[in-house]
Amino acid sequence: MSNHLFDAIRSAAPGHAPFIRIDSTGTLTYDDALALSGRIAGAMDTLGVRPGDRVAVQVEKSAEALILYLACLRSGAVYLPLNTAYTLAELDYFIGDAEPRLVVVASNARGGVEEIAKPRGAIVETLDADGSGSLLDLARDEPADFVDASRSADDLAAILYTSGTTGRSKGAMLTHGNLLSNALTLRDYWRVTADDRLIHALPIFHTHGLFVATNVTLLAGASMFLLSKFDADEVISLMPQATMLMGVPTFYVRLLQSARLDREAVANIRLFISGSAPLLAETHAEFQARTGHAILERYGMTETNMNTSNPYDGNRLAGTVGFPLPGVTVRVTDPATGLLLPAEETGMIEIKGPNVFKGYWRMPEKTAAEFTADGFFISGDLGKIDRDGYVHIVGRGKDLVISGGYNIYPKEVEGEIDRIEGVVESAVIGVPHPDFGEGVTAVVVRKPGAVLDEKAIVSALQDRLARYKQPKRIVFTEDLPRNTMGKVQKNILRQQYADLYARP
Ligand code: ATP
Repeated sequence: MSNHLFDAIRSAAPGHAPFIRIDSTGTLTYDDALALSGRIAGAMDTLGVRPGDRVAVQVEKSAEALILYLACLRSGAVYLPLNTAYTLAELDYFIGDAEPRLVVVASNARGGVEEIAKPRGAIVETLDADGSGSLLDLARDEPADFVDASRSADDLAAILYTSGTTGRSKGAMLTHGNLLSNALTLRDYWRVTADDRLIHALPIFHTHGLFVATNVTLLAGASMFLLSKFDADEVISLMPQATMLMGVPTFYVRLLQSARLDREAVANIRLFISGSAPLLAETHAEFQARTGHAILERYGMTETNMNTSNPYDGNRLAGTVGFPLPGVTVRVTDPATGLLLPAEETGMIEIKGPNVFKGYWRMPEKTAAEFTADGFFISGDLGKIDRDGYVHIVGRGKDLVISGGYNIYPKEVEGEIDRIEGVVESAVIGVPHPDFGEGVTAVVVRKPGAVLDEKAIVSALQDRLARYKQPKRIVFTEDLPRNTMGKVQKNILRQQYADLYARP
């Protein structure tokens, strides 16, 4: 029986070729990475980790952290990456919910985590960003030829907790089959080969940096520059040695702020990809004008891996997330009736395919509620499919503002506000309102020194938006709250301004 995802990775591994380029000189070959993954899998086995056991991992990004993920695939354990920003209290929730057998954390966090984990029967080991730690000490004594556990396509490879921008985090269960099929599809769709060198500046506890970036690289036998975080200057300096960048929209905004970004700087890059949050059409246009590259935008989520992508050849249409990937069905239904909507009409995006997760960890009722009778996952995103087949994301269902009985899509209002001279960006939210149910409320960031007040914005929007879509109040702020993937945390804004219309 084959250990699906890892078997495929092993078959694709090009021996002595580099997998991870630590910097322009140091490299870790595929052979090195696979040998170390065998040793770590051996150490986990000695600690008592068995197939199906969860291994919770909250560590800084490093080559060893990625290899720990490979070790879990080999040992049949379920990899459970946790955001490094989570506090002990948050960790307590995840450990309580997932009941891991092993928790791997940085050395300086060990004491606190042991207090939470030990009473629940979990072992705690350490792994630090510099490649040291107790887990690696144990691994050193293990042979590299670990006998991989057998796994089938339906067995769990990972549990990823959703980032919780719209509520309490839920553990999405992803199988070997989910991850393998999606990574192979993306590899072929984006034509990733062993000649590719990816700039990897994303966190590795999220579907984007872990599954898209890492699995696609591994299954192509390609290599990656592993950066601990995104830094525009560092990324631009690496571009002459690299061929691809996978980023979130904020990366592209930051790159555009650098005077060093021009056609010469990107001459060696063949593909720029964006996802995890909406890429503004203006960013797409500006990037194309400066570099000659049309950023390829794609759409995915924790529960489904990747669903759609703009084409490799053909028109990468700004403001859209492209076409459903091969094997994936995307449809749009009326949220009230569940009936299929025709092209161009906005409704709930539903997804079916081998990419779609197995369900939420220990939440059978929640899982059942998120699937239709015919097996489509109800994504929670609102959007439409246009006449040419491009999928457009209009916003998240939970962010929809319903004011005076009208549906208002924040993205449309934000688009109009962002066009106003002196505005950096905006977030439109619904806030409880005594007359309208929700009041359309815009939270706006101004350019430094911009002379722009509420009245000026209201008057600029007068002729551009129907009256019911116009914000009832506009508030100014220095920064919008964002999570690590660059997503605006509207739940925080809604809390912050909850009593705006109750104030005298
Ligand atoms: P939670 O589900 O707990 O609120 P989250 O949605 O932030 O957390 P993710 O699974 O990381 O967690 O995010 C997936 C969501 O990101 C999608 O449902 C969609 O709303 C958004 N998204 C991803 N890619 C794009 C894109 N290219 N354009 C617009 N939105 C996108």
